[in-house]
Amino acid sequence: MSDMIDQKSRLGAAARGFVAKPGRMLIDGQWVESVSGESITVFDPATGLEIKRVPAGTAADIDRAVSAARRAFEGSWSALRPVERERLLLKLADLVEANAEELAELETLDNGKILMMARYGDLRLAIDSLRYMAGWATKIEGTTISPSFAYVPDARFASQTLREPVGVVGQIIPWNFPLVMAVWKIAPALAAGCTVVLKPAEDTPLTALRLGELICEAGFPDGAVNIVTGDAGPGAALVDHPGVDKIAFTGSTEVGQIIQRRAADTMKRLSLELGGKSPVVILKDADVGQAVQGAAQAIFFNHGQVCTAGSRLFVERPLYDAVIEGLAEVANGFVVGSGFDQASQMGPLISSRQRDRVQSYLESGQREGGRLVAGGTAIDGPGYFFRPAVFADARPDMTIYREEIFGPVLAATPFDDLDSAVAMANDSSYGLGASVWTRDLLLANRVVRALKAGSVWINCHNLLDPAVPFGGYKMSGYGKELGHSAIDLYTESKAVTMALG
Ligand code: ADP
Repeated sequence: MSDMIDQKSRLGAAARGFVAKPGRMLIDGQWVESVSGESITVFDPATGLEIKRVPAGTAADIDRAVSAARRAFEGSWSALRPVERERLLLKLADLVEANAEELAELETLDNGKILMMARYGDLRLAIDSLRYMAGWATKIEGTTISPSFAYVPDARFASQTLREPVGVVGQIIPWNFPLVMAVWKIAPALAAGCTVVLKPAEDTPLTALRLGELICEAGFPDGAVNIVTGDAGPGAALVDHPGVDKIAFTGSTEVGQIIQRRAADTMKRLSLELGGKSPVVILKDADVGQAVQGAAQAIFFNHGQVCTAGSRLFVERPLYDAVIEGLAEVANGFVVGSGFDQASQMGPLISSRQRDRVQSYLESGQREGGRLVAGGTAIDGPGYFFRPAVFADARPDMTIYREEIFGPVLAATPFDDLDSAVAMANDSSYGLGASVWTRDLLLANRVVRALKAGSVWINCHNLLDPAVPFGGYKMSGYGKELGHSAIDLYTESKAVTMALG
């Protein structure tokens, strides 16, 4: 368990240097304070101590950033050829790779995640995503069409579609994978030729700001990427701003709904990657050991603070007791502690607010008759630690079964036939991820086709790759990030028809 030592002392020299600098945000290639001069405090979730202060951006800062992004979009950025955009993104990937250890340490300090995960998970994915998206800059294509226009006699025509960048994009991201989220937003937008105003989460702005420094070092033109820190205020200002052509948002469904309503006034393009309550379905022929490890990873990875977390578990009756027992053992065995401690397997939750929220779900689970078989105790401070919890015998009327908790709390339910498992899995307003565990691949494919979710995994869970599209069904949002689809999110299609004389 971590004590009250200031974890900044655990950083290497580079990360320590970054944290010691005054917090500034990036507008038009300059590192600036907010117009108001106000700042917000960023806390270390493992100790509750202040890490540093960063500017509290306001509507006035968003206005400056949007103007800069517009100027870059109409000038320096659009003047670049696709191959030059590709080269800049590749350069940025190299710089992120060269500074990976510093970025991983900053991520662990700011978010609380285990340093090994930050190093080998988040950083690897961020670097690979930059390289993958860089390649799209030179591969954006339209189509040619032979139209009929039969109502125009004695004339011939040719049509084509052009793929054009949407324009200035406002991007609002959450705190669970701060650097990866920043990269998943800015990289496809830049590859497509858009310019960006990024609003990181107020809890975790550090790696986005360090990324901003690397963007400057890579040589991106001023204003191509602007980063405005702050809380919901600058986020809302971005959504309302008439100079923003599109909003790309990752966060809660509640805020996604607010954004969708507000964006109507300016008819902004939207892509929304929202909450989930993803089912994990274990069939009776599955390998029990593999299924237990898989289900544990599905819910406990990143402390359950994952939008695709496998928070509902459905196990076919013959395996139910063995799987519950195995999961209880895994949950009870977790070493919970500072992400910097080598022995730690699970760090703190992001904030005291989040820990209280998770705790209140735990209490509701017990009140509503769930059988708590492991964990679930908040650990006395400092820091926002919480022991991973497993509820057996969860029922569809329970709050823990229906609502997204965004913490390490699993709700497990037995089933007797596959149709009822699929019906229960689909009985959710969300539809982000799902997994099925079985050795019978024909059966697996039947289940895959029946599940209503944007990502379905067979004998694995939570696996995301820059080449594979990612996004939700139902109230988990719309628009597929990653893969080829990411470019579609940041381009408009223009139809051009020419009379051939
Ligand atoms: P979480 O519950 O995971 O904190 P939120 O959906 O509340 O997720 O926040 C995700 C991001 O959205 C953060 O950057 C936050 O500042 C921003 N945000 C919150 N409320 C609004 C809003 N009304 N308009 C725009 N952005 C917002």
